Amino acid sequence: MSFTYCEDGFYEECICAVCHDVLDNPVFIDACDHVFCKLCIQQCMSHEKTCPVCRTSIDNRNVREASRMITNILDKLMVSCNDCGEKMRRNKFEAHTQECRYVCPLGCGDTLSLSTHAQHNMICSKAVIHCPAHEVGCPYVSERNIMVHHIEICAFHQLRGLITDCKTCIKHLMNRNEALEQKIELLTGEAEQQNHFPSVPQAPMHVYPSEYDEDSSGCVIL
Ligand SMILES: [Zn+2]
Ligand SMILES: [Zn+2]
Ligand SMILES: [Zn+2]
Ligand SMILES: [Zn+2]
Ligand SMILES: [Zn+2]
Repeated sequence: MSFTYCEDGFYEECICAVCHDVLDNPVFIDACDHVFCKLCIQQCMSHEKTCPVCRTSIDNRNVREASRMITNILDKLMVSCNDCGEKMRRNKFEAHTQECRYVCPLGCGDTLSLSTHAQHNMICSKAVIHCPAHEVGCPYVSERNIMVHHIEICAFHQLRGLITDCKTCIKHLMNRNEALEQKIELLTGEAEQQNHFPSVPQAPMHVYPSEYDEDSSGCVIL
């Protein structure tokens, strides 16, 4: 959750010289007393180790947490909650996030809170969702409340069972094909070896009953 400052005429001490906005996580440089947002000075220092205002050489040890006085001034500024619009002093905002109630930003009309927002997205009638037949290839997306009309006419949805069966079948055939290819490769290798050494007598091939099944005619099924 976030807030926006209500007033415009801020004290100069409250403005960051880098982003020209109200200080966020204020820090100061002990070598020159200039104040910045923590993130702003960190970003500046990753390019150049000098103060962005007065160019004094600095390193990370010069950056310190801003004085209580600046934080006190910031705490007294009026802010408005970006979710419900309620106005309050900045130091009250953290407590407010727990009790803030606001209408769903997607426009379904439900009232939400910080703790219910995540679950609400799973049921919000205005949330944009995929067709339930998405995993079998339907590209359709729409608001949840009108998806029902699409499902009635969705060919993917109607043929879902068939498509799933076909996919399973194809997967099975591909696995079998791969196993057969490996077997062919093995046999080709063996045949090539035999061609290279035609005079060497081959040891008889042993077939172990535990590894291979025999059918009724006594033929070995590989
Ligand atoms: Zn800043
Ligand atoms: Zn400075
Ligand atoms: Zn609020
Ligand atoms: Zn909603
Ligand atoms: Zn669909």
